[in-house]
Amino acid sequence: MPDVNRRFLLKQRPEGRVRREDFELAEVPVPELGDGEALVRVLWLSLDPTNRVWMTDAPGYLPPVQIGEVMRGGALGRVVASRHAGYREGQIVQGLLGWQDYAVISDAHPALPVPDDAGVPLSAHLGALGMTGLTAYFGVTDVADVQPGETVVISAAAGAVGSVAGQIVKNLGARAVGLAGGPQKCAWLTGDLGFDAAIDYKSSDWRDQLAAATPDGIDVDFENVGGEIMEAVFGRLNIGARVALCGLISGYNDAEGPAGPRNFGNLISRRARVQGFLILDYFGRWEEGARQLASWMAEGRLQHRETVVEGLESAPTALNQLFDGTNTGKLVVHVAD
Ligand code: NDP
Repeated sequence: MPDVNRRFLLKQRPEGRVRREDFELAEVPVPELGDGEALVRVLWLSLDPTNRVWMTDAPGYLPPVQIGEVMRGGALGRVVASRHAGYREGQIVQGLLGWQDYAVISDAHPALPVPDDAGVPLSAHLGALGMTGLTAYFGVTDVADVQPGETVVISAAAGAVGSVAGQIVKNLGARAVGLAGGPQKCAWLTGDLGFDAAIDYKSSDWRDQLAAATPDGIDVDFENVGGEIMEAVFGRLNIGARVALCGLISGYNDAEGPAGPRNFGNLISRRARVQGFLILDYFGRWEEGARQLASWMAEGRLQHRETVVEGLESAPTALNQLFDGTNTGKLVVHVAD
């Protein structure tokens, strides 16, 4: 059993992009287990836009990470020692294990068992079959309640949530229109994932392209980005449209936040509904969603892609990939085999 645990402690609150200097990589002894605890070797770390939000001191759905604390983060790992009846050695689990090599889990800090799906890489349980896939699933099916034939616009469509959301929309018999940065991502959406149209929002005529791709207006906005993209989508909402407000990534690096949509009033004339949602509120239905996603994957109706970064030490700077758009699909850090 190795005796050193490397862990990233938040040293200062980042301003703008995250920098390596915002963290200290501390080396401490691997914790001794007490009764009712189990030790997990972190294998895969999930990098998520919300990590950036947790680094601020703004009140949110979870308390801010305090200066000097281990950086909070979703991760998947193997139980390597257990003094808890509910966890056995060798078991794969996932939860908020943090940016570290080893985490202690217990009833107070639980982790979920990860099913052993032959043929599915473990890391998919952080992505398409895990938190981001389920965010897409419940956002599309429950929050937006997408119906066959409807037109659904998805921003950050080539990312972890967006790429799954678009495929679910297609599986439900609706039209999926994605916005993504760059021609390669757009080609992946329409070529491999079956989106009906993909718009490169970095091209100068993207608003015209959005209009051309949604000639009958927009019934559902699966909103991941905010700012100008959300404003353009709000301008094309149909009567009775739903906005599943999943995230506003365009503002996460900016202490001021994004400008509000100037055409917010369209929601009145369109009798539209905006609903923010959190995957946390769907934990009770996790199995139901995971089963459906796994079954679509087995049938070849759900593809997934990952951008893999090597080594725990890369975590702070790799987070910026989510804001540069240099990830496609789920961004994960490979910490150990
Ligand atoms: P992604 O894998 O989608 O990565 C983020 C992507 O956002 C980037 O690849 C980039 O793609 C795009 N992006 C970044 N900055 C901008 C910008 N300024 N304008 C337009 N696009 C931008 O991340 P996730 O799938 O993990 O998260 C997507 C969204 O979902 C986030 O807003 C996140 O906060 C939210 N979320 C919400 C949850 C909930 O419970 N409500 C749970 C999980 C995620 P590109 O190259 O196309 O620009």
